[in-house]
Amino acid sequence: MPSRSPKRSAKRKPTLTPELVKIRLESVYGQIEWRPRMIAIDELIFTVLTQNTSDLNAERAYDTLRKSLPTWGQVIEAEAENVAALIKRGGLSNQKSVRIQKILVEILKRIGHFDLEFLAARPLEETRQWFTSLPGVGPKTAAVVMAFSLRMPAFPVDTHIHRVSKRLGLIADKTTADQAHPIMEQLISEDDRYDMHVLLITHGRQMCKARIAQCARCPLANECPASTAK
Ligand code: SF4
Repeated sequence: MPSRSPKRSAKRKPTLTPELVKIRLESVYGQIEWRPRMIAIDELIFTVLTQNTSDLNAERAYDTLRKSLPTWGQVIEAEAENVAALIKRGGLSNQKSVRIQKILVEILKRIGHFDLEFLAARPLEETRQWFTSLPGVGPKTAAVVMAFSLRMPAFPVDTHIHRVSKRLGLIADKTTADQAHPIMEQLISEDDRYDMHVLLITHGRQMCKARIAQCARCPLANECPASTAK
């Protein structure tokens, strides 16, 4: 029988360390290995498309865009309405088409090309600042590109990680997702950030779900302040 939703008002005792969380989650989901995804510019535009929609819708929108306009230069040259029509499946297409074009234009203005791999060699905060100073790019989008494409120790906080981290007492209840990025990066060692990102997101999707958390089978139930299984 599924557990009830976790208690939000339970007294929080921060007995769980990120190291312990990692060990326990690895015992269920296995060891995590970094896998290369897209090159940085592709990851950046794809991540913009994921904003406020599912990965599946974003993937469809991205594929349609790349098939019709295979180079980023072509995306800049196209009419915004045309780009919006191509990415329609990703939702908010009018805003996203303009945002994508502005990002591409700004990158071209800054460096004259779209090869962003050089940013991996720069200090973490400098690269984060480089991305978040692009139009419409926030801390999560920047961290996704840095972690998944540039293999830098950034920690993206999505809706699952935000929820699970609050329930575990790693961040305070009132902490927003944007505020959680630097907090989680301070808590988690650089070497563990990628693994913890993948583990927490997997846990949020599979067990610590938004509506019904399955605390009875959770490996963190004994220490989790929000557990309903104690
Ligand atoms: S015990 Fe596990 S499933 Fe339940 S709220 Fe805590 S982390 Fe989530």
